[in-house]
Amino acid sequence: MSGEFDLIARIRARAGTRDDVVLGIGDDAAVLQPPPGRQLVVCTDTLNAGVHFPDDTAPADIGWKALAVNLSDLAAMGAVPAWCTLSLSLPDADPARADALLDGLLELAAQHGVALVGGDTTRGPMSLCVTAVGHVAPGGALRRDGARAGDELWVSGTLGDAAAALRGWSRGDPVLPALRTRLDRPTPRVALGLALSGLATAAIDISDGLLADLGHLLAASRVGAEVDVDALPASTALHAACADAELRRGLQAGGGDDYELCFTAPPALHDAVRAAAVRVGIPVTPIGRMRPGGALQCRTASGDPWTGTRAGYEHFAE
Ligand code: ADP
Ligand code: MG
Repeated sequence: MSGEFDLIARIRARAGTRDDVVLGIGDDAAVLQPPPGRQLVVCTDTLNAGVHFPDDTAPADIGWKALAVNLSDLAAMGAVPAWCTLSLSLPDADPARADALLDGLLELAAQHGVALVGGDTTRGPMSLCVTAVGHVAPGGALRRDGARAGDELWVSGTLGDAAAALRGWSRGDPVLPALRTRLDRPTPRVALGLALSGLATAAIDISDGLLADLGHLLAASRVGAEVDVDALPASTALHAACADAELRRGLQAGGGDDYELCFTAPPALHDAVRAAAVRVGIPVTPIGRMRPGGALQCRTASGDPWTGTRAGYEHFAE
């Protein structure tokens, strides 16, 4: 692509580094020195224009989110993030847009000490594919398949904000900035994932909606769960934007893009989980119990069965 090398030079000048990057951007591949005795944890996720973010999303927010969704995956594995690569497809070599994308991506990378060590730059519809690499102690990764019947089910932060923003945007309604920020600049719960090591029996990050992602955890762990939909944590912004309790439940249980962690832990570790969350300053809420069998049952506070209307994140559908 014309201007490809200019763009790569701009990226290289800003990418940041770490002592364990033996060779970063500029050669055929990066050379990295993993910490001795640690296992590497690798994930990749793509954001495509027109699919994964509203078309009025600021380029800096797109850059932020492209890395955030990957750091969220590392958080859900209990991994320490270290390096990333960026496969960038752009319709043209406009340096202002490329700089803005990098502004967001590198701001989040700096917050987590992550170095951008390579990538690829091509012409096409806008798309950002980030690969992130982190590390864990041997055998220490938080997996989806370790939940046991009797475990408590927890979720971090609040749910439904991003879905409420997306719903408002798709309807052309004004959207509260606090909600739009949750959609555009999700906060990967990296410190919580690390703090849950040795406590959580299973974990997953919520990208497609609580019930959809919990379903993956249940299938992997071969257990069921009972969820109290009225225990799902809601932000004050969600309450302000959405007075209808049933709509709110739907957004919280079915909406995606919040990038909170959903995890399980034995009830005996209840206080330890709370203490770990306080230590890292990320709220956590118990929302249910793991049960024998494979069923996922939702109940309201009054004990009535609840069957939602949205089974998960539907791409911009209402
Ligand atoms: P090659 O032809 O060997 O694949 P490229 O010209 O694609 O090399 O890339 C040159 C260098 O720039 C490589 O180190 C590559 O990792 C890096 N690079 C290319 N595009 C990006 C990008 N979007 N972000 C970060 N590094 C990039
Ligand atoms: Mg290449």
